[in-house]
Amino acid sequence: MQPIQIAVVPVTPFEQNCSLLWCTRTMKGVVIDPGGDLDKIRSAIAETGITVDKILLTHGHVDHAAGAAELAETLGVKVEGPGEADQFIIDDIPAMAAKYGIPNARAVTPDRYLSEGETVSVGDLTLDILHVPGHTPGHLVFVHKGVGIAIVGDTLFRGSVGRTDFPYGDPDLLIAGIVGKLLPLGDNVVCLPGHGPVTSIGDEKAHNPFLPR
Ligand SMILES: [Zn+2]
Repeated sequence: MQPIQIAVVPVTPFEQNCSLLWCTRTMKGVVIDPGGDLDKIRSAIAETGITVDKILLTHGHVDHAAGAAELAETLGVKVEGPGEADQFIIDDIPAMAAKYGIPNARAVTPDRYLSEGETVSVGDLTLDILHVPGHTPGHLVFVHKGVGIAIVGDTLFRGSVGRTDFPYGDPDLLIAGIVGKLLPLGDNVVCLPGHGPVTSIGDEKAHNPFLPR
């Protein structure tokens, strides 16, 4: 049995799935994509009783990253991820937050950018990092292979894929990344997307209309 547990906290007007992922043996955890609504995130942290070790970001969009700077400061933890190629999107967070009415949004400079092939650890857990660009250039996916779960951010959704209608979006690159890196994780791998319900690689392989078959 892997000592892993996950809780999802929907945040921001975009109902973004911020997740707490923790090691039940050490009770150390990470907060992934704290886009906002820090009160809700803090309550969830208190409820679970975990000690937050670090903050992870899948990508730089406002609904995923806008609360990272403040939460990191108040918890005294570091921010790791996304890929460095997303920094220009992170830098644009204050402007995007004003546009979409997300309060207390701040840009952040991660303490560590992450790249494919590196790992992040929390307690006794190790997460592998995949680079799946196209939605944003520095988008990462965090995978725990032992238990078969992937935090996929805005790459793959139940029945859909991330939007690519940004100046920096690339639909072909996104599909290539999903097909080349996510689908091979295996049918039983559970995917926790940045928005909407949980799904699995097998379900998306069978039913996702955006994926080639
Ligand atoms: Zn996004």
